[in-house]
Amino acid sequence: MVREQHRADVVIVGSGYGGAVTALRLAEAGVDTVLLERGRRWPVDGSGTTFATQTAPDGRAAWLSRSSPLTDAELDVYCGVLEFVPGDGMNLLAGAGVGGASLASNGTMCLPSEELFAHTLGAVLDYREMVERWYPQARELIGCAPIPDDVYESSFYRSARSFADQLERAGIPWSKVDLAVDWDAVREEMTGARVRSHVDGLNVFGVNSGAQLSLDRTLLARAEASGRLDVRPLSTVTEIGPADGTAPGDGGGYRVDYDRIDERGEIVSRHRIVTPRLVLAAGTLGTNRILLRARATGALPGLPAALGSRVGNSEVITARTGMAENNPRQGGPCAIIAQDGKDDPARPVSLLNFPWPDAPAGEGWITTIGSVPAPALGVFRYDPDRDDAVLSWPVDDPAFAGARASITRTLDRLDEANPGSRTAFSRIGTTGGNVVGGVPLGTVTDDVGRVAGHPGLYVIDGSLLPGTGVPPALTVTAVAARSARHLVGDVTTGA
Ligand SMILES: Cc1cc2nc3c(=O)[nH]c(=O)nc-3n(C[C@H](O)[C@H](O)[C@H](O)COP(=O)(O)OP(=O)(O)OC[C@H]3O[C@@H](n4cnc5c(N)ncnc54)[C@H](O)[C@@H]3O)c2cc1C
Repeated sequence: MVREQHRADVVIVGSGYGGAVTALRLAEAGVDTVLLERGRRWPVDGSGTTFATQTAPDGRAAWLSRSSPLTDAELDVYCGVLEFVPGDGMNLLAGAGVGGASLASNGTMCLPSEELFAHTLGAVLDYREMVERWYPQARELIGCAPIPDDVYESSFYRSARSFADQLERAGIPWSKVDLAVDWDAVREEMTGARVRSHVDGLNVFGVNSGAQLSLDRTLLARAEASGRLDVRPLSTVTEIGPADGTAPGDGGGYRVDYDRIDERGEIVSRHRIVTPRLVLAAGTLGTNRILLRARATGALPGLPAALGSRVGNSEVITARTGMAENNPRQGGPCAIIAQDGKDDPARPVSLLNFPWPDAPAGEGWITTIGSVPAPALGVFRYDPDRDDAVLSWPVDDPAFAGARASITRTLDRLDEANPGSRTAFSRIGTTGGNVVGGVPLGTVTDDVGRVAGHPGLYVIDGSLLPGTGVPPALTVTAVAARSARHLVGDVTTGA
């Protein structure tokens, strides 16, 4: 197949939080940018049927796969919203589509405490600067807000209120969490004016009501409206390297090879773009794949040795049962966050109640997703047999013992304070959408994401972070906003 060639001032790969913030800031600065995204657009058109749901799963739930870990159904092969990749010790869930993981996420936007930040990014970034400037900017860009009282008090959110009561009995502090949710749209779900999605806990394959403030409807829409941003969906980047006639690291620009695919993943056409500035924002999985492959194939052999390292996942999933009935539908997404720092105030356990739409009725289940600070011991390596990056996670490493003990103590406290309640399930960091790292900020890149020894090559996404101790999207966005400012400076000054 002939490869069509063209040029662009800036190319971004991936349209999640990192790519969307970068695209918007470049558009505002008047810079023409091409954004390549492997997934399709997901317009919420009012029909209530844009996405698959947990109750009616189909190929729209999974990225080019017959199965998804979140449903037992056999699926048709389609470019759905979530890729599942089994790993060694940890499985990965990654978003796919214009808007990245924001399409299907719980949308919780959590600010790490200063102590948590110190354990993860404190050596590279100044917490004060982040809190005073970049976190507020991230919240404003995403447009997040906590659940309003009238929605919280409705029957749909009985499980959140029930969890809050249990936390109070156990003496564990809780608060409402910021969410990337349009609460007026949720109110319309409640009255039946829109299809029920969030209030029925149906978000993990996308939100049919339009109540999700996903990036395609916010930052990317603003950037595209400027006329400066050219988003190319169904465009999978397969390889990057130095522009023809240049050597890696000499600043002569990059070639980006990508395939246009159809919705079943078949290649329709092949393309090459040449650009002086290439921003990788393909998410933790996507960016590690592209860079590790470029190093292994010799396209960019000088990429730093630390590439692939410091992969973190502090995610904890728990399920407790045996309590009073609390509404099996469990309206979502996660409305409240508990932060238990009783044993180690500097490293609190966070728990966010999240919906389990088909929880068995009458058994009083409360499910939570949360975080417990854990060391970033995961490593991505290039596997030549699979021609892919493979993640290893030393799940039995003694370094996780402290994190496991913390979560067990919190659950024990909850069960003791709430007679009848027992923990049915508690799992730390073995399957995750919150996995970050592999391109450590300040090591593989400088402190704004410029890749060491590779002028014009940037990484601006979750792969820069070695973990945050709370769900990462707000921090990914805040760090991206900071990096994008420097990128815009580089482009406009020709640095
Ligand atoms: C189901 C789920 C729920 C989550 N819920 C929360 C939550 O409630 N709160 C929270 O803080 N965090 C949550 N997260 C994590 C959060 O969404 C991610 O940390 C965040 O989206 C990372 O942003 P990013 O910019 O790194 O990339 P992503 O959002 O992962 O986007 C990367 C994009 O790059 C594209 N891409 C990848 N490879 C290629 C390629 N080769 N060519 C072209 N495009 C490519 C992908 O299709 C994707 O659209 C959740 C994640 C998942 C999967």
